[in-house]
Amino acid sequence: MNSNTDASRSIKASVPVSLHARTSVEQVEEGRELAPKFDQDGLITCITTDADSGDVLMLGYMNHEALVKTVQTGKAHYWSRSRKTLWHKGATSGLVQEVEEMRVDDDQDAVWLRVRVSGSGASCHVGYRSCFYRCIPVGKEHGAGKELIFTESSKTFDPNLIYGDAPNPTLL
Ligand SMILES: [Zn+2]
Repeated sequence: MNSNTDASRSIKASVPVSLHARTSVEQVEEGRELAPKFDQDGLITCITTDADSGDVLMLGYMNHEALVKTVQTGKAHYWSRSRKTLWHKGATSGLVQEVEEMRVDDDQDAVWLRVRVSGSGASCHVGYRSCFYRCIPVGKEHGAGKELIFTESSKTFDPNLIYGDAPNPTLL
């Protein structure tokens, strides 16, 4: 019995995920087929939020492989545009994003991951929980034009300790 269970698990782990060709507006908007639209660079936008708080954690991009691997493994994979490589989020830092729910939008050119993050719970390579850790003051009464305001008072980890000499993915 046990070996059967193990076998079915491993089959399940590598289950082929086929993405459908986009054939009609009705199929894309109203259908049950996953038919994502990748842009001219072969990427689809992904917004990632905290499954519990709803906070936006990051905006990333997936290529075909990253999207399929995310579906197959239940762990967030992205395409790193700066490093030009598949990026298993948390492989280096241990801050793996376990996908609680994955959605696709109306025209299937964006996906939404609701995740739980392991380790310190951070999703940002700078060390903050969310990549969106600064407010831009908006409107005259709220100080429009003034400095950015930090929304997190401290980092959850020291990036230098975690990433060492690895090149910073932020490009100028
Ligand atoms: Zn970040």
